[in-house]
Amino acid sequence: MKQTMETTGSNPFENGVAQLAKAAKVIDLKQDYFDLFTNPHELMEVYIPVRMDSGKLKIFTGFRARFNTFMGPAKGGIRYHWNVTREEVKALAFWMSWKCTVINIPYGGGKGGIIVNPKELSKGELERLSRGYIDKLADFIGPDKDIPAPDVYTDGQIMSWMLDEFEKLHRGHYPAVITGKPLELGGSAGRGTATAQGGYYCFETAIREMGLANPTVAVQGFGNAGLFIAKICHEHGFKVLAVSDSQGGIYDLDGLGIPAVIAHKEKKGSVIGFGKAKKVSNEELLELNVDVLFPSALENQIHKGNAAKVKAKLIVELANGPTTPDADEVLHKKGTIVVPDILANSGGVYVSYLEWVQNRMGFYWNQDYVFDLLKKQINNSFKDIWAVKGKHKIDMRTAAYVYALQKMQKAAQLRGY
Ligand code: NAD
Repeated sequence: MKQTMETTGSNPFENGVAQLAKAAKVIDLKQDYFDLFTNPHELMEVYIPVRMDSGKLKIFTGFRARFNTFMGPAKGGIRYHWNVTREEVKALAFWMSWKCTVINIPYGGGKGGIIVNPKELSKGELERLSRGYIDKLADFIGPDKDIPAPDVYTDGQIMSWMLDEFEKLHRGHYPAVITGKPLELGGSAGRGTATAQGGYYCFETAIREMGLANPTVAVQGFGNAGLFIAKICHEHGFKVLAVSDSQGGIYDLDGLGIPAVIAHKEKKGSVIGFGKAKKVSNEELLELNVDVLFPSALENQIHKGNAAKVKAKLIVELANGPTTPDADEVLHKKGTIVVPDILANSGGVYVSYLEWVQNRMGFYWNQDYVFDLLKKQINNSFKDIWAVKGKHKIDMRTAAYVYALQKMQKAAQLRGY
């Protein structure tokens, strides 16, 4: 399908294409390459029959998309969510391809998803669904083809079932087929907190570049990305004024005691009801008077309707696609710095890459070594992208795409496109 460079979409994939289009204009990219880079290499839809505990058979719909695998196999997580759509999976795979290029690892973009509310499934149903997804995709994934990982509402246990199913079907050990595994099955030290750790390194560099002293912080989302960024910021002495999860948020002007909030969430299933903190909605959290926002939940949270009300001077996107293109325009005009998702949350895929490397060597590193590599890698990309931003006088997201587009175009050209 031919994509227009004028697109300003309202769905996540159109948003991704619009982001790329801005960068394409900066480097005067030919329409041929734009079309090549904005169409998936594969987009699969699968139907997974699962015998439910009730005895009834239920058919679940799943997807897997792959983009821009010029530099290596596709890489990207699998999301379990009731709002998963083809367009969302396409968008997430598209972003993965740019993210892998931004962080300089030899992968293309991949992403999968199943339309399901995993909270409504028993453990047995969840296992049968996860194995069923791999049964459908077993010929299409592999350490040199397409390497899944966790995403929203999937975790190390789900990766373990998926690995086991793949290995049963292929009759051998292939730990590098999937990342985000528990340590006992070949996971990497540091993978659990890598996304937040990488986001923290970006935050550190950004506040230094911007001259922001002792910034206050708010975090939307309190899962793998959000919980750990709140914890790391707290451990480094930054005041975390607000956090939220799917049920809403909490706010304390004196700063939240994050370890106690984590304990509360573990006990009650939500951050809501914590101590003397005030209740805020997820929408209100984004508009609080804080210096730094970490959107760490879902897409399209900062949009045309609320961008002008965002008071933070710095936004570090741990979620994928939390800011729409029209909101980007508003924020750029206001002087808000947005460290884009394809850089800010690339720590996760970078340490996934290190997991894949360790699986292939059969030799494992400790967390200090892994984070040392991560810090150098993400800081180098940050520095390069900051320079592109300055050179072209563009926002940081467009700079990240310009940086990646040039590499992607070169790789495609070398392959004869
Ligand atoms: P997760 O399932 O561990 O956590 C998601 C969190 O978001 C939960 O706390 C949930 O309660 C909350 N949430 C759900 N709907 C919400 C809403 N409407 N408002 C506020 N909070 C809401 O997922 P995760 O792995 O932390 O992923 C979060 C985001 O980070 C996603 O966009 C994901 O693609 C992105 N991301 C994650 C990783 C990773 O390594 N986990 C890597 C890169 C990007």
